[in-house]
Amino acid sequence: MTDRLPGFSTLAVHAGAQPDPTTGARATPIYQTTSFVFNDADHAASLFGLQAFGNIYTRIGNPTNAVLEERVAALEGGTAALAVASGHAAQVVVLQQLMRPGDEVLAARKLYGGSINQFTHAFKAFGWNVAWADPDDAASFERAVTPHTKAIFIESIANPAGSITDIEAIAAVARKAGVPLIVDNTLASPYLIKPIDHGADIVVHSATKFLGGHGNSLGGIIVDAGTFDWAKDNKYPMLSEPRPEYHGIRIQETFGNFAFAIACRVLGLRDLGPALSPFNAFMILTGIETLPLRMQKHCDNAKAVAEFLSSHPAVSAVNYAGLPGDRYNNLQRKYSPKGAGAVFTFSLKGGYDAGVNLVSNLKLFSHLANVGDTRSLVIHPASTTHSQLDDEAKVRSGAAPDVVRVSIGIEDKEDLIADLDQALRA
Ligand SMILES: *Cc1c(COP(=O)(O)O)cnc(C)c1O
Repeated sequence: MTDRLPGFSTLAVHAGAQPDPTTGARATPIYQTTSFVFNDADHAASLFGLQAFGNIYTRIGNPTNAVLEERVAALEGGTAALAVASGHAAQVVVLQQLMRPGDEVLAARKLYGGSINQFTHAFKAFGWNVAWADPDDAASFERAVTPHTKAIFIESIANPAGSITDIEAIAAVARKAGVPLIVDNTLASPYLIKPIDHGADIVVHSATKFLGGHGNSLGGIIVDAGTFDWAKDNKYPMLSEPRPEYHGIRIQETFGNFAFAIACRVLGLRDLGPALSPFNAFMILTGIETLPLRMQKHCDNAKAVAEFLSSHPAVSAVNYAGLPGDRYNNLQRKYSPKGAGAVFTFSLKGGYDAGVNLVSNLKLFSHLANVGDTRSLVIHPASTTHSQLDDEAKVRSGAAPDVVRVSIGIEDKEDLIADLDQALRA
């Protein structure tokens, strides 16, 4: 043993895990069980009253999921984490702790399309209001803050074009407003960006994407930075007021710097129910072991593909923050120096028809609606995910008719370039 703090790759393999104490199993077992036997009646009562930590029922917690939670908390530099069934479940559970009907979440306009839908339609039905601001302009967040604002929500590397957000500038707005900054770190993963180091109070992930990394399991993670004072001004009663369902305890007072993760578990996950299957937790844990290797290869391949496309005669523009002339290149070198991620967009001179033709002619790239797979993926947003928008709205959301989005995988880059080249010629 040494006093050295383990590095990122070591944490990716080991954090949270140890050989199984009863069997010696080295890989984390899949605890495929709904429930756990209590030692005795007192033990049962103390678990239910939150006086002791332990397993009760897999909707609230599970030992396989616990390893995943500890690992992602370590990789992100948070105090604690909670695994849930999907990225969207993470977003609902986080905001449920912060919002009452009539409250407002202030969100970046550039978000994953599913998040824009969730915020606009589902949250509206909860009585939660959404205000939008421009992630390229921190002052637009400051102008949009109102007394009802309870949280600011951004993506570190933003959909759909892989633009890089100035997290520190928006964190300063959140601090001044006295609200937490929530960062969706899905496209970056903690290998590229650790939002907590830049002022984020809460990090969320769709673990479905780069954390799991193999396109085989849905999952979501919430990470608590442990930095926010939830009791200040009594703005967050779920965390500061006595909880009738737990004999009147106050979550922040009792759990201190991991109170938010506890609230998400014992008030969010317990009551809303989007638990992660332990099998999926195992798949995502296995994926995370190779996160540093995969992410670097994703980034190196994406840069090579972006360079190829930017000199191709059929392509009119490439939006990739890793290219020297890109408008996000300075932010990329500050926030994500190891690479600009794997998801980006480019525009075709031939417009809508050229986009449709390209996705039809690609052979190695899969035409589907996902990102963060080992396999390279492509989608033409204007004819699929954004087809319901009018032309102006398509352009505003980065899904103009000539735009194609790719998520570059970890294949040989020469094969990806050859596939794009033949499809662009066809
Ligand atoms: C996919 C995705 C989500 C939603 O995650 P699910 O696991 O599909 O629910 C949220 N944010 C981003 C950036 C995503 O890519």
